[in-house]
Amino acid sequence: MNHLINKALAAGFTRAVWLDGLRIECEARLREYCNPEGCPQHGSNWVCPPGCGSLDECAQKVRRFDKGILLQSVSEMNPLIKDLDRYKELNRIHNFRLRGFLEAHCNNDMDVLALTSGGCVFCEGCSFPAPCIKPGLRMNSLSAYGIDVGKLCEMAELEYSFRPDKVYYAALVLVNDWVYSFNTGPCPTRKVPL
Ligand code: SF4
Repeated sequence: MNHLINKALAAGFTRAVWLDGLRIECEARLREYCNPEGCPQHGSNWVCPPGCGSLDECAQKVRRFDKGILLQSVSEMNPLIKDLDRYKELNRIHNFRLRGFLEAHCNNDMDVLALTSGGCVFCEGCSFPAPCIKPGLRMNSLSAYGIDVGKLCEMAELEYSFRPDKVYYAALVLVNDWVYSFNTGPCPTRKVPL
């Protein structure tokens, strides 16, 4: 899977790890943060509740996959300044990087579930509640799916923490049979994380 890892690094991700044999849990304690009082995005797009479906529906979608690529964007921060705009901008950059990666390597015929933090950036404004423009490729929310990013990074042996001098954004692209349809050509799957 090295060619795929190299493509992800060339796209600007700091780290990329192929994971196989995944069993991802969708945890209610993480979904709790998605509520109308706690988040202004709630009810405004297809990747936040209620547009993304219930936690059970999200878990059913995730269970269809047991492999994918974990992508991480890591940036330095000035530990003396709590710059919220900078956090948002870095998250946006991470998601546009993911968008480019999905557009380059996936298509609507592939069985893909992309997850990230900070929302989908395929459209300038989400079409919700009108039908989604890219239902197969849209960037679903890791937190709305109740996925523990720290656990994922630990599984992939990637550094992840909340510290004042660094920020870590992660995305997970789950795939079925991607290795055979991925446009850089077929390659064997591995049963252990690389
Ligand atoms: S692809 Fe467009 S319509 Fe679909 S979730 Fe993303 S922003 Fe919304």
